[in-house]
Parts: sequence; C-alpha cells; structure tokens
Amino acid sequence: MNSTNTFDFDALQRNVIAKGLCTRCGVCAGVCPVGIIGKDEDGYPIVTGNCISCNKCNLCCPGGDVDFPLLSKQIFGTGYDPLSLTGYVEEMYIANSINNGVREAGSSGGVVTALLLYLLGTGKIQGAIVVGMDEKKPYLSKGILATTADEILAAAGSKYSITPSMEVLSLLRKKEGRFAIVGLPCQIHGLRKLMEVDPQLSGKIYCILGLFCNCNLEPFAAKEAIEIKGIGLADVGRFDYRGGTWPGRFQVTKRNGDKIHLNSLTIKFTMNIMFRLFGARRCYLCVDALAEYADISFGDFWAHDYIGKLAENERCTLVYQRTSVGMTILQDALKNEVIQLQTLPQQRNSIRILNMTREKKQRALLLIWQKSKHGIPIPDYHFEIKKPSFSERRILFIHHFYNLIIKLHLRKPIVKMLFSPPGKVIDGMNSCRKKWFGNYKGN
Ligand SMILES: Cc1cc2nc3c(=O)[nH]c(=O)nc-3n(C[C@H](O)[C@H](O)[C@H](O)COP(=O)(O)OP(=O)(O)OC[C@H]3O[C@@H](n4cnc5c(N)ncnc54)[C@H](O)[C@@H]3O)c2cc1C
Repeated sequence: MNSTNTFDFDALQRNVIAKGLCTRCGVCAGVCPVGIIGKDEDGYPIVTGNCISCNKCNLCCPGGDVDFPLLSKQIFGTGYDPLSLTGYVEEMYIANSINNGVREAGSSGGVVTALLLYLLGTGKIQGAIVVGMDEKKPYLSKGILATTADEILAAAGSKYSITPSMEVLSLLRKKEGRFAIVGLPCQIHGLRKLMEVDPQLSGKIYCILGLFCNCNLEPFAAKEAIEIKGIGLADVGRFDYRGGTWPGRFQVTKRNGDKIHLNSLTIKFTMNIMFRLFGARRCYLCVDALAEYADISFGDFWAHDYIGKLAENERCTLVYQRTSVGMTILQDALKNEVIQLQTLPQQRNSIRILNMTREKKQRALLLIWQKSKHGIPIPDYHFEIKKPSFSERRILFIHHFYNLIIKLHLRKPIVKMLFSPPGKVIDGMNSCRKKWFGNYKGN
C-alpha cells in the first residue's frame, strides 16, 4: 500500500475515520474498484489489501463533506433552503401495499418492499440493495444484494442499526442490468457523490429509495438489549426490531420457536430512548432526517395523530415523491394495483415527523456550531451555520444529559428498568403528556 499518497485509504482514515466523522455507510467499500476496503466489527472501514490510490473512497465519502446546495442543484435544479424541514418534495402520499402479506412484512405499510417487488417483477430492476439479518448472528444486520422476490420479501422491515450496506455496491460491477438501492440519508449523500465520480457504477442505479431517519443504533445495541433480558445469544434464532403485532416491538424468536418481547413499551418510546442511549455519535451531526436526496422517501404514518378520514389510514407509509424517477415508479405501481396511494396535502403533513426533523436538524446545527468553536472536526454541509440563540441551546441540555448517563455506565440499568413493568408506567405517562400537552393530535 502506498501510504504516502494522500489520495488513498490513508487519507480517509486520517480525515474522516480518525476524526469521528465516518457515518459507516459503506460507500467507500462499495466504490473501491479493487475491493480492498473491509470493515471492523463496529462497521468502520479498514484496509485489507493494496490501495491503488484512485481516490474514489475519498471523493464519495459523505462523512466530512456533503455539498447540500450542489446536490439540490444537480438533482432538483433548485437551491438549498437550510430552513426547509422537508427538503424538495413534489407530492406527499399515504400509501400501503395492496398485498396483505407484503404489508404485514413491512414496518409501516410495506410500500418499499411492494415497489421493489414490482420493479423486479416487471424487469425494470435485476435486484435491490436491502438490509437483512446475519444468519449466524441474527441480532446483527447486514447489506444484501437481493435478486429474487423471496430475498426482497425476507429483507422487509426496518433494522434500526448501523449497517454499512452500501459495501454491496461492489457486487454490481459484475452484474448486468440496473438495481434499486434502499438507503438512509447518509448513505444517499454518499451515493449521490458516487454518481458523479463513477459513471460505470452510477449507470447500474435505477432508483434510490430513502428511509426517514431520526438516528441509528450502534451495532451492539440489539445484543445488549437481548442480554439485559437474560437471553443467551446462542439461543437467538431471529431478532426483529418490530416483531409481533403491528407496530411491533423488539422481539427475539428463540431457536426452539418461543417468541419473547424484550419490552412492553410502544415502539416510538423505545426507539426514542434507545436512540439517545445507543445512538451512533456521528448521527447527531447529521442534518438530514428525511432522505432529502432520494427519488422517493418513506417513513411511518401514524394515523392516530390525525382526525377525520386520514385517521383511518393505520399501518401505512408516509411517502415523499421528490424526483420524476420517483413519480414514474409510484404512478406505475398505482396503475398496476401494487399499492394504494392517497395524496396528503402539504398542510396536513405529519406534525410528528416535522417535530422529529426540526429537533434533529437543530441538535446537529448546535453541535456543529459548538464543536467548530472548539476546533473539533465537523462535517461541512456547505451552508452557513448561524450562532444559536440562548433558548435554542436548551436542546443541548438533553443531549448532554444522556451523554452523562452513558459516561456513568447507566445505560444498561436504565434499559433494564424500561423493559420491566415500571417502564410501562413511564411510557404511559409520556403518552399522556404528549396527548395533553403535545401538538400532534387533530392534524
Ligand atoms: C435506522 C432507521 C431509522 C428510522 N427512523 C425513522 C423515523 O424517525 N421516523 C419515521 O417515520 N421513519 C423512520 N424510519 C423508516 C421506517 O422505519 C420505515 O422503514 C419506513 O416507513 C418504510 O416502511 P415500509 O413498510 O414502507 O418499508 P418496508 O416494506 O418495511 O421496507 C423497508 C426496506 O428498508 C430496508 N432497510 C431496513 N433497514 C435498513 C437500514 N438500516 N438501512 C437501509 N435499508 C434498510 C429493508 O431491507 C427493506 O427493503 C427509519 C428507518 C431506519 C432503518
């Protein structure tokens, strides 16, 4: 390996990984033409062979640099508005898969899976990059190139854990045809950079389907949650982040077939706490909650936040169509009776999603502002970050409070308590607080 050349993996190591900016998206491994980028057990890139100094890993990396204004111009032909919560959106929909099996396999309305199955079935794609669980260690997630309907269906459902699934891109080089890619915001930032850097690989991408993303868990979070409940890892046959009755809970299926719910809390409350206790640090510097550069973005649609007819759409996916590629896919799938699609007027966009997005953006901008003041490495998103007002800085109080809990090694006892009966009481109190004082209801 040429370790003196700055255009090689060493530069990535120095400028991104060592500085705590790596998102663990896997794009560097996926774009490496000689396949010498592997990963360690936490998902961070490592070098495994001779670097040819092509610099592609650095050019595509979204860890230290994502030019939001440039991406907005390239993809939508518009400027970037840092104050917009949703990013560029053409239409919003509430949708669900018409096939009940697919809808039930999905985390929300099974729409992502339904679209992938439709694109594969009609020959528009030859496969899709999705995320499944490891066969040997079923509590760990991994990227998969699914080329059959069975593989796509088996990978349905959200895996709320850091997964460098874009490493699978490298498999596309040897494949004929075009592929759909399901990714999180950071992965899509890397993919969009890749599309400028590697025309050969870019030509294999049919569409980018993005998932909304508040945060992502460290890969060891599921393992710790299982251990906290006293289940031996060797007994785990399957782990689901949203198993059982929709909207689901953390669920272990033991090798003997027994199903065990780790928590009795609502999935929303569980994820809120888990993200704060086990969230990947780099996620806190991310300003994109809604996969702003996907062709279509997907998130949960919580019907109980709504009144009137919209309240009848439980178990659906909230869909933002952003590009003409996205529009064609949705309209074709609708025409072919693959999905049900109902327009959601902009003014009735989910208040819950907007709140989540506002909080994620504000927290990231505050942290970036604070770190830059102390000379700590930060990602460059190519727009001005204003000095926050004193009241805005309150958000950091909660962030630092959870950091303290982590430093004091209190996360295990807290999760243990939350996964026991008192946790249910706290969850109930939190739901009441939101119902009485929150602004979700009545949308
Ligand atoms: C880490 C994470 C955080 C999320 N945060 C939010 C949130 O805060 N608010 C919200 O409304 N929605 C969030 N979502 C999205 C939501 O959970 C659903 O994925 C989305 O609503 C689509 O549902 P669906 O039933 O249409 O998709 P499905 O039919 O279930 O298909 C989901 C597809 O995504 C793939 N996938 C699963 N996990 C990953 C992953 N980690 N990386 C890349 N691809 C993956 C699956 O393999 C499958 O192809 C998050 C998802 C993830 C993975």
